Amino acid sequence: MSSSSFLQVDIPFNQRHTCWFCGEPSNDYIDFPKSQKAIARLEHQPLALPACSECSKFQYKDDMLSIWSLRDHIKHALISKYAKHLGIGENWTEKELQESEFTGSLLGGFGESAWAMYEIAKERVSYKGWKLTINDLALDGYDDTSGFEFDGVRYLSVNTCIDYFVKATGLDRELLIGLIDIVSTDRFAYALRIAQLNKNVSNRERAEILDEIATQEAEQEEINSHTVQTELEITDVEEVVISGTTAPAFAIQWAITKNVKNLDDLCAIEDDYFDNFEHLGGPAAFMSYNGLQLYLEAREDTDWANENDPNSELW
Ligand SMILES: [Zn+2]
Repeated sequence: MSSSSFLQVDIPFNQRHTCWFCGEPSNDYIDFPKSQKAIARLEHQPLALPACSECSKFQYKDDMLSIWSLRDHIKHALISKYAKHLGIGENWTEKELQESEFTGSLLGGFGESAWAMYEIAKERVSYKGWKLTINDLALDGYDDTSGFEFDGVRYLSVNTCIDYFVKATGLDRELLIGLIDIVSTDRFAYALRIAQLNKNVSNRERAEILDEIATQEAEQEEINSHTVQTELEITDVEEVVISGTTAPAFAIQWAITKNVKNLDDLCAIEDDYFDNFEHLGGPAAFMSYNGLQLYLEAREDTDWANENDPNSELW
């Protein structure tokens, strides 16, 4: 194929001689796609991108429709190749490494350069090449909005992020995916923590964990919806003034929430009240408590409660 079919992407001045895929020094180019047949299906112009000798040698199939798919593919290849290096940082902290007299058997012969090797591998995997343009014009069908950020690192997709942790820390892929399905990608850290605590699981154990988490989530959801409902019910509370003393709305709200129906009920949990409203200061807490007492006393008169209590519907 003639090399003129491929348009060289613009290269920012400070990125000269940099691999667009991993940020290492580049001494090669990748012509994308591989065949004339693939050009017809491509979502943008055929491109030539600077690449390091390693990234340019990864094999890929001829069915990729965009440079973003190829980048994803190369990142996956890097993650697989450097899984052991990545595992160093995901399994130990730098301090732990410094403090331990690490031996060849622990780190597979990485020795004192272990942390540096982790950092290099992590940087290459996280590296996000510059925005692609050709003669200052964006690529056709340019879309760089996708991606997934976790713990300060931008991954190309949730799958790349999952792949990263599976390869680096040897956790159970199916378990992690199952957990994310339940708790959603918003709580990736939570799913990851559970997966890291349960690395070597049997099919049965995996199913049990997923079952347990699903149940927990369902219960939490029920509690949340109940809380919202309770809050809704008692937001309309109005303060009540009896003989010049005010029973404030918050005190009445508290009594309703605590299922206090009369003076005896209130008396039984008087200490709770003062614990709860300690922040008001002694006199204010006492005044409000006194107002609540008078209000509950007034409510004992059914006629008054029905005709004059603005909160009669709430009790
Ligand atoms: Zn590279």
